[in-house]
Amino acid sequence: MASYLSLRQMHTIKLKKGKAKAAHQRHPWIFSGAVVDDGEGPQNGEVVQVVDHLDGFVAYGLYNGQSRVAVRLIEWDSDRRPDEEWWRVRIQRAVETRQPLLRSSDTNTVRLIFAEADFLPGLIVDKYADFLSVQIHAAGAEKVKHVITDELNRLLRPLGIYERSDANARMHEGLPAANGVLCGDTPPEWLEIRENGIRYEVNIAAGQKSGFYCDQRDNRLFTARYAAGKRVLDCFCYSGGFSLNAFANGAASVVSVDSSALAMETLKRNVTLNGFDESKHVAVQADVNKQLRVFSDSGQRFDMIVLDPPKYAPSRSGLEKAARAYKDLNRRGLLLLERGGLLATFSCSAAMDVGTFKQVLAWAALDAGKEIQFVRQFTQPEDHPVRASFPEGEYLKGLLCRVV
Ligand code: SAH
Repeated sequence: MASYLSLRQMHTIKLKKGKAKAAHQRHPWIFSGAVVDDGEGPQNGEVVQVVDHLDGFVAYGLYNGQSRVAVRLIEWDSDRRPDEEWWRVRIQRAVETRQPLLRSSDTNTVRLIFAEADFLPGLIVDKYADFLSVQIHAAGAEKVKHVITDELNRLLRPLGIYERSDANARMHEGLPAANGVLCGDTPPEWLEIRENGIRYEVNIAAGQKSGFYCDQRDNRLFTARYAAGKRVLDCFCYSGGFSLNAFANGAASVVSVDSSALAMETLKRNVTLNGFDESKHVAVQADVNKQLRVFSDSGQRFDMIVLDPPKYAPSRSGLEKAARAYKDLNRRGLLLLERGGLLATFSCSAAMDVGTFKQVLAWAALDAGKEIQFVRQFTQPEDHPVRASFPEGEYLKGLLCRVV
């Protein structure tokens, strides 16, 4: 708590001339190259005051000398110094905006806090039934972990709070890996949750990211509207979100492909848990690109294909290479569809905007010798909002394409 008691001696970070514009427009990142180096820096995670080259107040932020993003701005009102109460209020506001989702009876897994979008950089909180999963990816949030835990407990009274911080992101912030119970009960190894009335088991400690991809909630439901009577192929299926929704809507058969052994195990448990006809389900543990070639060579065809790959473009500089990979993947998928066939294809690379993604699809269709229509554009759900001043927060996009 020392960092908060010493607010009176708050460090000032001065920006170079011409580097304050984006920050004035409420963009939350100050890159290390924009900062005047005055020798003695604050501690990582400390609250600092950022000023322009003429010493005019810009915003308060969280400092990290080890990160490419030297300051994450959180408060633009100079009268509201971020203290513990500030964090509590921000957490309360974030949770408040999720109330409509929290009241839903057929879904009990919700993202409660989505980092910069909720003015809480480095902090992601997901609700899984009666447990919370917390990811802390920045030094500033790490410093007030006790406040975060306490406020979440007060607001939501979960059975337990589990920390599942991504080791890679933390390494960039100079933070040690973290995976364990923060307070309350340890969640069961397989915790049952519900989404759109479908049951899932989530492995909070070992699953990917925080255990479940709740950002595809609406897209799974929409895609499944077209699944009745269809032969569905769900690629990069993870715990089976698209496969299970397709079954629930009367798919004739579902093939689910993922390279991860834990994904396969979770998927199979989930098919059984929901009582879907296992004789109509095939789970293939394989590399999707290789498997699509196998299907192609053997003449296997599908009526609906889902492609939901991991992030191919980690940054803008990797965009061109990623575009080629997306094109190749989608071309391979389109080759397995006949006229009337549907492709639900996604990209979770923030660097790729939806316009570019459409171009990639047009290019893939041309190469596959198919004509396609865009039937629907997909995005991220309301518990993953995008701040107008932080377009980088918009990462998930998808297209429902029909072969015509
Ligand atoms: N569609 C899923 C989420 C997909 S996340 C859902 O609705 O929940 C991306 C998935 O791709 C992960 O499960 C990961 O194991 C898998 N994956 C990554 N690279 C792969 C590859 N080359 N072949 C097959 N699966 C892969």
